[in-house]
Amino acid sequence: MARRVLISGGAGFVPSHLCDRFLKDGWHVLAVDNFCTGRHSNIAHLQGVAGFELLEQDVSVPFTVAGPLDAVLHFASPASPIDYLRLPIETLQVGSLGTMNLLEIAREKRARFLMASTSEIYGDPLEHPQRESYLGNVSSIGPRSVYDEAKRFSEAAVMGWRSARGVDTKIIRIFNTYGPRMKSGDGRVVSNFIVQALRGEKLTVYGDGLQTRSFCYVSDLVDGIVRVLERGDHMPYNLGNPGEFTMLELVQEIAKQIGHVDIVHMPLPKDDPTRRKPDITRAQTDLGWAPTVPLQEGLVSMIADLRARLAAGEE
Ligand code: NAD
Ligand code: UDP
Repeated sequence: MARRVLISGGAGFVPSHLCDRFLKDGWHVLAVDNFCTGRHSNIAHLQGVAGFELLEQDVSVPFTVAGPLDAVLHFASPASPIDYLRLPIETLQVGSLGTMNLLEIAREKRARFLMASTSEIYGDPLEHPQRESYLGNVSSIGPRSVYDEAKRFSEAAVMGWRSARGVDTKIIRIFNTYGPRMKSGDGRVVSNFIVQALRGEKLTVYGDGLQTRSFCYVSDLVDGIVRVLERGDHMPYNLGNPGEFTMLELVQEIAKQIGHVDIVHMPLPKDDPTRRKPDITRAQTDLGWAPTVPLQEGLVSMIADLRARLAAGEE
């Protein structure tokens, strides 16, 4: 019989790619989403596909699932800074109540549980690159804290349900990921810059543009997630691309593909991390995982996807 996975946030950018991958691998998929930041168009191609089901549900509210489950993947959460600043209470709820509700479902169904945590739990890191052993430099009261602390709580809940209630758990810490299906209005830097460049607008560089991020293409991330679920141990795994770019270097990469671009400097948001780069030794050693798609190549597909969606009228 086919294995069955619940993917919370299934209509979002990253989790919709996970729905595709699990269906391709022969699993049945139950996507659970309340569409607060996700979109029907991300999963429209799956409607009517054998083995795919959609449940429209807020996971922060207790709910039940009929039938067996082999795995529960918790990806529901606003993820872009503009989304979690617009939805601060909902972000805190989905990272606390939502995580505990889904851990209980995993316990009842004897399903393996995987938590989508984030590099944001390292805050503005004082260790570089960041290893999983780094405990972080996070503000508990700054504007980003609703997201960062909700994810830190989620990790604590996962460890608690593992030790006290015997749930088989995994934790991944995802670093900045990009690719097709990111909304044009998502607000994160790669989609912002591409949309601005395609519209002939100035690219909005926050601060001096010398802050760094490491950008992972979504197919590499999905491959890492499947490996952690199948073969990882219960301690956190960093999943990200160690290639590190300043925002000004990202501007240059986009200009190489779209043509000349102008930039405008805007104020740096409060508590914006200065540097970020994953140490992926653990995932490499345990799982044989490393990203394969360089930024230049990933940008080609992302630009093509956004170009097509803007042409089709996406705002
Ligand atoms: P996204 O906003 O596209 O997807 C999140 C999905 O969760 C959306 O479909 C949204 O409607 C749904 N959702 C939110 N709250 C919900 C709730 N209470 N009940 C049901 N559904 C709910 O974001 P994304 O970039 O695809 O991120 C997906 C997950 O991966 C998030 O948990 C995020 O924290 C994590 N993550 C992503 C990145 C990244 O770079 N994309 C980095 C680190 C962590
Ligand atoms: N950023 C930028 N211009 C934008 C959007 C973001 O310069 O239009 C910067 C932002 O200040 C941060 C980096 O790009 O330093 C990554 O931001 P994003 O929101 O993509 O992710 P996060 O800050 O959560 O890593």
